[in-house]
Amino acid sequence: MILFEQVSKTYPNGFQAVKDLNFRIDAGEFIVFIGPSGCGKSTTMKMINRLVPHTGGTISINGKNITKENPVDLRRNIGYVIQQVGLFPHYTIEDNIAVVLSLLGWKEAKRKQRAAELLQMVGLEPDRFAKRYPRELSGGQQQRVGVARALAADPEIVLMDEPFGALDPITREQLQNELIQLQRTMKKTIIFVTHDMDEALKMGDRIAVMKDGAILQFDTPEKLMKEP
Ligand code: ADP
Ligand code: ADP
Repeated sequence: MILFEQVSKTYPNGFQAVKDLNFRIDAGEFIVFIGPSGCGKSTTMKMINRLVPHTGGTISINGKNITKENPVDLRRNIGYVIQQVGLFPHYTIEDNIAVVLSLLGWKEAKRKQRAAELLQMVGLEPDRFAKRYPRELSGGQQQRVGVARALAADPEIVLMDEPFGALDPITREQLQNELIQLQRTMKKTIIFVTHDMDEALKMGDRIAVMKDGAILQFDTPEKLMKEP
């Protein structure tokens, strides 16, 4: 469970990107943050794994204040997927997926096995893809690897910042459907940022609508679409 209480962020240049955020996300929910560019979606998301430290209020995960936790331990439990996948070009696909696992001290054989399992999970045949390099994959395939990498250490929470924004519409729709399936089977808490309302309505159990650093509404798609 993730709890935001009166959370705000003022960047070092004095700009207040978000203010007075109050919300609660339960384990296993698929949450979408939507809003125009610059409204504070990425800032909100990055405060959860402390890539961006908040400057006011309290954020807790499973009852624990995140400022009291070691960032490494915190991030082990929080997968992160972004639009620019950021795979290491000189690592094979399986090594890219297993980077986190080597940091956790996993032995090579176990890492390879886990990478193969994850590739399978995101719809890439391990025998065909494990030994390839990122440049040999399409954008959609690279994004799948990004998802596999985020899931490697079996985190409870996965943050996804416009993960499908750079993909063509067909690949995008396919990955949206696969992600919905994946979340249902794995029961992860997913926090997904987009500026596409169709994507938000399709994916979210609940949707947080942001504008100018504030949350205007945080509700199910049905309630969001209902006339007042
Ligand atoms: P979104 O993800 O909704 O596009 P962001 O959270 O990235 O929005 O940014 C929210 C606001 O904070 C924007 O106005 C952005 O320019 C500003 N901002 C983001 N990062 C910084 C930073 N490091 N320093 C100052 N302002 C920033
Ligand atoms: P993202 O959407 O992934 O957050 P952005 O384009 O918003 O990427 O920002 C890229 C980087 O630039 C981030 O590290 C962000 O903190 C920083 N940044 C964004 N807006 C500003 C700003 N107005 N002033 C200073 N840094 C900024």
